[in-house]
Amino acid sequence: MKRKVAFKTLGCRLNQFETDAVLTDFYHAGYEVVDFNQPADVYIINTCTITNQGDHKSKTAINQAVHRKNGSLVIVTGCMAENQRSYLQARGDIDYVIDNKSKVSILPIVEAHYNGELVNPDLFRKDVFGFSVTEKSFHTRSMIKIQDGCDNFCTFCIVPMVRGRAVSRPLMEITENIRQVLDLGYKEIVLTGVNISRYDYQGTGFTSLLEAILAIPGDFRVRISSVEPEGFNESFFDMFGDGKLCPHLHLCLQSGSDSILKQMHRNYSVADYLNIIGNLRKRDALFNFTTDIMVGFPGETDENFEETCRVIRDVGFSHIHTFKYSVRNGTRAAQMPGHLPEKVKNERSLYVRNLAAENKLKYRQQLIGKQQIVLVEKVSKTGIAKGYGEHYVPVEFSAAGQNTNYFRKVTIEGISDMASDYFLKGA
Ligand code: SF4
Repeated sequence: MKRKVAFKTLGCRLNQFETDAVLTDFYHAGYEVVDFNQPADVYIINTCTITNQGDHKSKTAINQAVHRKNGSLVIVTGCMAENQRSYLQARGDIDYVIDNKSKVSILPIVEAHYNGELVNPDLFRKDVFGFSVTEKSFHTRSMIKIQDGCDNFCTFCIVPMVRGRAVSRPLMEITENIRQVLDLGYKEIVLTGVNISRYDYQGTGFTSLLEAILAIPGDFRVRISSVEPEGFNESFFDMFGDGKLCPHLHLCLQSGSDSILKQMHRNYSVADYLNIIGNLRKRDALFNFTTDIMVGFPGETDENFEETCRVIRDVGFSHIHTFKYSVRNGTRAAQMPGHLPEKVKNERSLYVRNLAAENKLKYRQQLIGKQQIVLVEKVSKTGIAKGYGEHYVPVEFSAAGQNTNYFRKVTIEGISDMASDYFLKGA
């Protein structure tokens, strides 16, 4: 009988990619992949520790797996496995705590365990780029890892401590990986990493990497996931004229106040940020920007917060991921004066979420009457197809008898259901 494995992934796209790659390993080894709520022989929790909320969700998932444990293995990996290793090992109910660099070895560790070997996960292969080609995936798009780690040391961020210093994957490996997933039938590539705009492999920067990727022949498109607003030039902006590069960036702003950005040790000003927005909206007035906003950074005044809200209104982000600042031990911001009460952070967070909802509706309304090329991800029994357009907006339309994973040009006619996240309705 096949052994069963279940996954839970918290946090960023990089974690999602790495789960997909590990899932592929287990699939090839003959395991059956089951839902995390089902009984399984192996539970793998790929954790996040970027905020208190990330820790909380990771612990909840670990507890769920431990609760269901009935002779099964519980494996914890990801950033919490780095940041809270002692706590996780001391719990006594987790079988293996595996660091980020050893994620490639999760299957060999499990197999060694079932062979009855005495297993020390630290003695297995460590390689941040050595993942399998993600043949099996929880996603329609194929994520491609191009980079890991970060040298920026933003004062609030624990990531450089848990993911290590920046390393870039060799260009040839990336283009080869993309060719492999295109051969497997994927039609959308999402570039992922910790700080991908700082990609630098032997003098090849992010823009040159993109040029090489866009030159790969085939009917596919490329999406840049989350990027820091730095290191862009005219050549980078011009590449969005290529139909293969999707007109959407998740461009991390964090704060709309120059003084807060400086204290965060971000390497740009609000004017630099708006310059990027202007350059891309000049080329496509509907270019879609989404972002991360951190509220309640130590010392953030009402005035600083209002500056952030002003930028939010001016840019018209179609989606905002709002974080409340939370203390990460070992970061410089943890030692800063002026930590704000939770009540203030909650109020600011709610205010941003309300602004974000207004912006989302406004942005999507602008697309009515326009066309989107939708990559179809689901077709329901009732013949409703759903997918995302190139601007990263969800679209649904009638497509009886069609399959998934194809591009379809759709004219946006309206917004189908205000309660369900403003899906665009097309024909
Ligand atoms: S750029 Fe800053 S926020 Fe992003 S991973 Fe690096 S240190 Fe963290």
